[in-house]
Amino acid sequence: AIWLVALLTVVMLYLSVQTMLRDARQATELELDFARGIAAGEIEPFFQAQCDAEGRLMGAEVLMRWRHPLRGLVPPGEFIPMAEATGLIKPAGQRLLEQVCSLLLQWQQGGALAGLPMAINVSSVQLQSDAATERLIETVPRALREAGLIKFELTESAYAQDFDDLLAKMQAMRAQGIRLALDDFGTGFSSLSLLKRLPLHQLKVDQSFVRDLPDDPDACHIAATIVRLGRDLGLDVVAEGVETQAQLDCLRAMGCSAFQGFLFARPLSAESFANQAALWRRG
Ligand code: C2E
Ligand code: CA
Ligand code: CA
Ligand code: CA
Repeated sequence: AIWLVALLTVVMLYLSVQTMLRDARQATELELDFARGIAAGEIEPFFQAQCDAEGRLMGAEVLMRWRHPLRGLVPPGEFIPMAEATGLIKPAGQRLLEQVCSLLLQWQQGGALAGLPMAINVSSVQLQSDAATERLIETVPRALREAGLIKFELTESAYAQDFDDLLAKMQAMRAQGIRLALDDFGTGFSSLSLLKRLPLHQLKVDQSFVRDLPDDPDACHIAATIVRLGRDLGLDVVAEGVETQAQLDCLRAMGCSAFQGFLFARPLSAESFANQAALWRRG
């Protein structure tokens, strides 16, 4: 019986090592594949409309997609965590910003999208790197005469970084005319005093606070408090994940100034977005 236990133990150890190795190899394959995809130009911006209370188009958020030759369109949930863990988000995010700037330049030539501001996500991993942040900042004024057409969306996890360092970087962004939004507000650990000290233009109410509107009284209190806080600080307040007319009416009554969600539009490729935008009223 002792031999049998020993044998079983060895077999189990062997199997678990095999599993670990396989997992490690899969992770590496995804990383290599993503690095290849960046170099091959497979990273692509999608655009989701942002609207005012009357449903007029005010801007858009850029959302990263990976157009994989075999897997098709890969959503960010399947590669952003890996890209942040490995640092690959830095080249991917830089390439995305460059693509967005050149599209914006194209769209400035006239037509439905001229002058439309774009918000792009900047990960705390990008912000933690001085070099990656500097490249992002200098890309905008180099590509666009009107740097204010670009807004960087930062998340509260950026606070994990040294506050004075983050503040200096945000001031450098503002000095170039880039606008700043705090994304996913309320989901992280930011303190209100920090919020007051950051040079922000906009606060985005996370969709977790929008989802249960208008029937859940707690959700209503939290959303109303966030909207009021943003307005008291002099910020534009944008609600994310607006899916129903009832949510929109509720947020509008709270004083929210802009809205983003499937009620208005899904994220679209540059081409579809440009085609759609021709049909929108502009805010
Ligand atoms: P996020 O920045 O909070 O972006 C909003 C997400 O909510 C997007 O998911 C969008 O498609 C989704 N969404 C929009 N309206 C609705 C709605 O009405 N209902 C629901 N249920 N969802 C809605 P997506 O495109 O899958 O992106 C997920 C996350 O991936 C983003 O969350 C952001 O954290 C990250 N991400 C996307 N693009 C980039 C990027 O270029 N750089 C970085 N660092 N992160 C990115
Ligand atoms: Ca965002
Ligand atoms: Ca968000
Ligand atoms: Ca979110």
